[in-house]
Parts: sequence; structure tokens; C-alpha cells
Amino acid sequence: MSDRLPGFSTLAVHAGAQPDPTTGARATPIYQTTSFVFNDADHAASLFGLQAFGNIYTRIGNPTNAVLEERVAALEGGTAALAVASGHAAQVVVLQQLMQPGDEFIAARKLYGGSINQFTHAFKSFGWNVVWADPDDISSFERAVTPRTKAIFIESIANPAGSITDIEAISTVARKAGVPLIVDNTLASPYLIRPIDHGADIVVHSLTKFLGGHGNSLGGIIVDAGTFDWSTGGKYPMLSEPRPEYHGIRLQETFGNFAFAIACRVLGLRDLGPALSPFNAFMILTGIETLPLRMQKHCDNAKAVAEFLAGHPAVASVNYAGLASDKYNQLARKYAPKGAGAVFTFSLKGGYDAGVSLVSKLQLFSHLANVGDTRSLVIHPASTTHSQLDDAAKIKSGAGPDVVRLSVGIEDKEDLIADLEQALGA
Ligand SMILES: *Cc1c(COP(=O)(O)O)cnc(C)c1O
Repeated sequence: MSDRLPGFSTLAVHAGAQPDPTTGARATPIYQTTSFVFNDADHAASLFGLQAFGNIYTRIGNPTNAVLEERVAALEGGTAALAVASGHAAQVVVLQQLMQPGDEFIAARKLYGGSINQFTHAFKSFGWNVVWADPDDISSFERAVTPRTKAIFIESIANPAGSITDIEAISTVARKAGVPLIVDNTLASPYLIRPIDHGADIVVHSLTKFLGGHGNSLGGIIVDAGTFDWSTGGKYPMLSEPRPEYHGIRLQETFGNFAFAIACRVLGLRDLGPALSPFNAFMILTGIETLPLRMQKHCDNAKAVAEFLAGHPAVASVNYAGLASDKYNQLARKYAPKGAGAVFTFSLKGGYDAGVSLVSKLQLFSHLANVGDTRSLVIHPASTTHSQLDDAAKIKSGAGPDVVRLSVGIEDKEDLIADLEQALGA
């Protein structure tokens, strides 16, 4: 063995996996079982008391899921990860470790529409208060900090317009405030951006999108960077104080730089229950093996489609950070030099009606509410994902009435452009 550190594509294929010790199976088997036999009573007791690592019950952990966790932790440069049932489950489990009723977290206003709903409505019923800030105005994050702030939440490449967030600048605000920076890295994937390299303390993903990559399995994951000191100022009692359900151990003291991932598993997943099916973990692992190939093709196609749209007479403007003229192009060059992702928006001179008409005429692009599929996808946010927001909030979050969002797939770019041409022209 050479002592070379494996590169990203090698990790995407191999990290966390080895031939199955009992059967020799080379692909990671689907351990489709709810529970695991203990060696003896002492072994069982030590597993339940967190004195030993091992399998108990698939709600808390599963060997197929463990390969996925190790692989994504390696790709993101974190210390450990926890797979859960969906991207939204990842967000609930993360914040449950950090928030008490009455606490606040600051979130960038430009977010996945489902996250805006989750933060505004569901989290409010837990007593967790979201305070919105503008990712294009770093000082708005600083101004939002109060003694009850427990975290800052941003997207690396932000929905719906594919804008690029200045992770390092917001990480500086989080450090100063003494709170962790959580980055939703779904639209970038670690192939394009590794937020931990830029100061993120926790990374979350909807695995449903580019990591799984084929539009066939829901999943989510939480990656612990191992960078945050949870013991300061008694702000994070779940991590710093004795846990009555585990013989009074303190998670940070016992588990050090992967204490957050452990808390998410043994306090979050165990009690809230959004476990990932091992079958979905298998599908997503298979997807991740080709992540570098797919992501590069997604980005190259997206750039070609954005350039075509920018030159079309029916199009008023294109928001794609990969275009030299785009306001996020400098940030894209810094954070995502291999490509600015494959999700972006453009606006039509014909407004709302033109948006509705376009989605109905496209044939190769599927009209649906997803991103990060091999297939090209289109949606008109104002009449779908963002329809709950009032007009002002729609415009603020980048989903005005004239806006169409694309998730560009890995088909031949000439076919995608031809489809857009017929739908725009007719
Ligand atoms: C889809 C998505 C989510 C939610 O993930 P689910 O797997 O659908 O629960 C969160 N953030 C972003 C950026 C997404 O695209």
C-alpha cells in the first residue's frame, strides 16, 4: 500500500466499505433486519450504556447505513455522520440537540421552500424561533444575534436561484457569537463545495438529491465537523450536561470531536425515530459511487443551458453563478471552481402566464418538485413550491411570478437546448 491519501473519486467508491467478512460480497449488502443478536448479557448491557459500539436495533443504527455514514463523513471531511430518513429529518434532529423552547436560530432567507415552511411553522410549535437574515448582507446575521441564538443555518448553493453563499464570512459571525454554523450542502454536494473547509461546524444534506442522484430514494444525513466546543457557557446542555438516560455520562466529555454525531443518534434518532431504510441507504451508496462523474456533467450541461437562455429573446434574465456576468460569479470562482451546480432560475418577459405556459410545453424536462435527478427537471416556484408565500416574500426568496427553476440533468445538452427552444418559441 502506498501512503498516498485517497482522492475524492476513490473515496466516493470505497470509503466505509470492505468485502463482507462472512460472505465476501463486494457490493455493500442490504442488512434488511430490524435487530441484532447480542453476544451475551454483558455485551447487551455495554451497548445500551454506550460503553461499546455495536448494533442493537435499526432505528438507532444499521451496518448498511453505517457504510453510507462513513462514506459521506469522508467526502465532507467530517469526523462522523448520521443518516436519517430525509433531509427534513436531518434538520429536526440537528436542531433538537441545540434548541430549548424559547431559543432562536438565525437562517438565511434564501432556502429550499420546504425548509422555510419547516422553520416558520413546525419549529414554532416546538418553541424554536427562526430569525431571518439576508445572505447577501453579512451584517444582517450579526445584527440578528441575541443571547438566545443557538445556531446559524445557511445553504452553500442556495435555493431556488443557485446563488453562492459566502460561507467563510458567515462562519466568522458564528464564531464571534459562539454558536455553530450549520450548512445545508444539498445543491453543491461535497464534489463542488466542502463547507467544513470553510468553517462549517455541521453539514446537512438531503441525500434525496445529488448524492443519491437518481430520483429514486429519500434520505438525509448529518455530518459532524468535530470543530465546535459544546461545553462553553452551558449553552448546549444536551451535549455538556450529564445524561440521565445513559448513567449520567456527558456526551462531549465522553465522545470528544464526534459528540455531536453521537447526540444526534442516541438522543435524536433514538427518540424521534426518523430512521433511514437500509434499502434506501444501499440505493444512495450506489449513487454516490458516480457522484464526481455525474456532478461534473450536471454542471457542464447547466452552464450550456444557462448560456443558451441568456441569449434568448423571450428571457428577461438568467441567475446562474457560473455565468461570468452573474453577481455571484466571484463567489462561485472561490467556493465552487469546478462548477456552480445545476439548479438555477431564469425569468421570462411574459411573467406568470409565460412561466405556466413554458412548463406545460417542455417535453424532455419533467415538471415536478425535485432537484438533483439524472433527468432534467423544471418547476414554476410561484405556482407550486413557493405558492404559500405572499408576493413580497416570493420575490425576496427569489421566486417571483416570472421565475422558472431548472435542475439540469445529465442528458445530451443539445437535446435539452432543443426542448427549451421549442417550448419558448412556440
Ligand atoms: C430537498 C431539500 C431538502 C429537504 O430534503 P428531503 O429529503 O426532501 O426531506 C432540504 N434542503 C434542500 C436544499 C433541499 O433541496
